[in-house]
Amino acid sequence: MRQKLYMCPTMREVPADADIASHQLMLRAGLIRQSAAGVYSFLPLGMRAVQKVEEIVREEMNEAGGQELLMPAIQPAELWQESGRWEAYGPELMRMKDRHDREFALGPTHEEVITSLVRDEVKSYKRLPMTLYQIQTKFRDERRPRFGVLRSREFIMKDAYSFDSTKEGLDESYDKMYNAYCNIFSRCGLDYRAVVADSGAMGGKDTHEFMVLSKVGEDTIAYSDESDYAANIEIAAVHVNYEKSDEPLAALEKIETPNLKTINELSDALSISDQLLIKSLLFIVDGEPVLALCRGDHEINDIKLKNVLSAEIVELATAEQTVQYMKCEVGFLGPIEVPSDVKVIADHAIEFIVNGVCGANEKDYHFKNVNPSRDFSIEQYDDLRFIKEGDPSPDGKGTIKFAEGIEVGHVFKLGTRYSEAMGATYLDENGKSQPMIMGCYGIGVTRTVAAIVEQSHDENGIVWPVSVAPFHIHLIPINVKNEDQVKLAETLYEKLKQERYEVLLDDRPERAGVKFNDSDLIGLPIRIAVGKRAGEGIVEVKVRKTGEMFETEVDKLSDLLKELFQQL
Ligand code: ATP
Ligand code: MG
Repeated sequence: MRQKLYMCPTMREVPADADIASHQLMLRAGLIRQSAAGVYSFLPLGMRAVQKVEEIVREEMNEAGGQELLMPAIQPAELWQESGRWEAYGPELMRMKDRHDREFALGPTHEEVITSLVRDEVKSYKRLPMTLYQIQTKFRDERRPRFGVLRSREFIMKDAYSFDSTKEGLDESYDKMYNAYCNIFSRCGLDYRAVVADSGAMGGKDTHEFMVLSKVGEDTIAYSDESDYAANIEIAAVHVNYEKSDEPLAALEKIETPNLKTINELSDALSISDQLLIKSLLFIVDGEPVLALCRGDHEINDIKLKNVLSAEIVELATAEQTVQYMKCEVGFLGPIEVPSDVKVIADHAIEFIVNGVCGANEKDYHFKNVNPSRDFSIEQYDDLRFIKEGDPSPDGKGTIKFAEGIEVGHVFKLGTRYSEAMGATYLDENGKSQPMIMGCYGIGVTRTVAAIVEQSHDENGIVWPVSVAPFHIHLIPINVKNEDQVKLAETLYEKLKQERYEVLLDDRPERAGVKFNDSDLIGLPIRIAVGKRAGEGIVEVKVRKTGEMFETEVDKLSDLLKELFQQL
């Protein structure tokens, strides 16, 4: 490709509204342009990177037995009403009406469409298992589109769906996809972890997220420093053997604590460790009040709360709801003498508190020398808190550390959630009708490109891994007015293309400095500069990743490139 007429508008300045490296670099290197918040065009160079990722995804999906199809982006509301998600999905679903006033959605995901397709076409166990996939544009009206194509409102996703007749079959289909994902993200040159994730109340059990480790990631991963345990902190289980002090139980005492509402204010004023404080938070769980307790140095994890109570919606109570249910304002809540319509649930650590402190359900008062079971009773102790750095790893090996991650892929055992709701059944060996057992598997293709840039760049620009680089080689005649340089560059351009390299020829009449800066910014793996020594048949080769430079005779160029690309 010749750069002079190539739509690759590089920018020197850092765009003001882009605050992470990948967003800035994708704009500056001319890969993307924004047309509305969270809505982007991919320019030719960016599109080539997208296609590289798509090709890797396609190869691995096909290898794992997936069949590619293409479903419509426009989905009729009726399908979503059948699954029950027309209401449940909320404002993230982009809805529209046609000229006859019929309702549609722009697909954010395709469980409904695929389930209806398979339900109509597959009737017998003999036709299962089956895994279908597509690579297609998705639409989600994200609350906070940001970070460029990392969280956009229109993006390309690979979504796959498996249909099985047995649970074991689903396990097998899931494992195949899991392994394919490992191959895909490794081939993309990413440093990633597959982490155990939250399966929510959707009935599914096993689920893993594929996280690219990066400090700009919006998810936090808890991982062991000694084993391969890794989980999203949303669900990371806490296995702590808390110790109980053998201090004698002291008499319960009500103390005045005017304006001491927060854990810090309280532990400072009473000069006690926050491990002795009982933090009491009121939640509204599917419309019912639940008082959840944890230790002062811990945080309640609302996703665990939701899973423990098999609930759909968990929200922290508002100030008004708190007064309504607890007859007391936030800051002074506690588990002693709780109104009977409020359920009380506590994290395991609470059981081990001796002579603790809790709110008295009365403004400006707390209790001290509080002891569980003597002073209040708990219906249910459970694992309700977020894991912390330094906690023992749940698998018993090592200690927990945190890292930030960008979710690039998600594999999920759906079970019969959709097949039952939508009547996708098959006839088993005995002629009996059974719901199909499903899995779903997504990869954010455009997010993956951004994640690659986020993980692979330096202060001068992008450093593409060869597998996803828009081109392999940046060929640069330094002075396009010099005949020797132009002639040699043209010869090399043809020769390298014949050798199956993808080459971007910078034939622009720009200064050397501009060309080299753009070249570093665009970040192709190898740069070949044809300069002053062109007449002698000598060119300069630079490896983008390491900065290594080689002067070589043109005859030896092929061998050198082979060697360099092997190392990359
Ligand atoms: P997130 O928690 O980041 O919103 P999600 O759980 O909603 O992701 P899934 O529904 O599992 O995502 O979608 C599958 C994949 O699609 C994700 O793993 C991610 O790579 C990609 N993806 C999801 N939302 C976006 C988005 N707004 N922009 C770009 N890619 C996205
Ligand atoms: Mg999302």
